[in-house]
Amino acid sequence: MTLIRSREFARQKRSLDVFARANRGYVYAISRFDDDDSTICTFGSMGYRDDPIKTGIGGVAPVTLLSMKNNNKVKASDQIMGGFVAGTENIGLGKSAVRNEQQGGAHAEELFLRKLPQMFDEFGEASKIDLFISRIPCANTSASWSLAAPGGNVLLPCGCGNKLTAVIQANPGITWRIWWEEEYPNATTQAACVAALNGLRGRAIVERYRG
Ligand SMILES: [Zn+2]
Repeated sequence: MTLIRSREFARQKRSLDVFARANRGYVYAISRFDDDDSTICTFGSMGYRDDPIKTGIGGVAPVTLLSMKNNNKVKASDQIMGGFVAGTENIGLGKSAVRNEQQGGAHAEELFLRKLPQMFDEFGEASKIDLFISRIPCANTSASWSLAAPGGNVLLPCGCGNKLTAVIQANPGITWRIWWEEEYPNATTQAACVAALNGLRGRAIVERYRG
């Protein structure tokens, strides 16, 4: 039975949808390994705001605000200093990656990808991974970063659709099935996201979730 037909998925989705309705911009993902509901994990990403709530600990660095305003597009020439983004690294081919001990990247898909090595440790090698995402993966609004993997670091390009493609390519022998639910309201943004997902053709089964 696929993830979206499982009762445990329905239970998790119901409660995450309640949270999403109360928190504009909240996007979440639900993953499962090998049809086993005990491996279900959820990942939630709060929406970016231009008026972030400052917390007692940490808060939001001005540089984070700057990069938010720049749509997270980081160029090799940028010299960004701050608590969250230390700088950029030229990685060849005219591309740059964010270099930081705690790299950015907190879209729901990125949180999933970040935890993936740990899930392989915990659940063992998977032959099948199901992933539900409450909004279509972005085309280019998440910056590039590198994911530590047993076979060497995998460079993840800009955009969550592209990141998923890179990780799926780097982990052969797994049947991936991905559902996304909401569209972006802006037609141009949505079209770019759909185009980015074309990279997954032949590598994953990608469908829109319709309940
Ligand atoms: Zn994204």
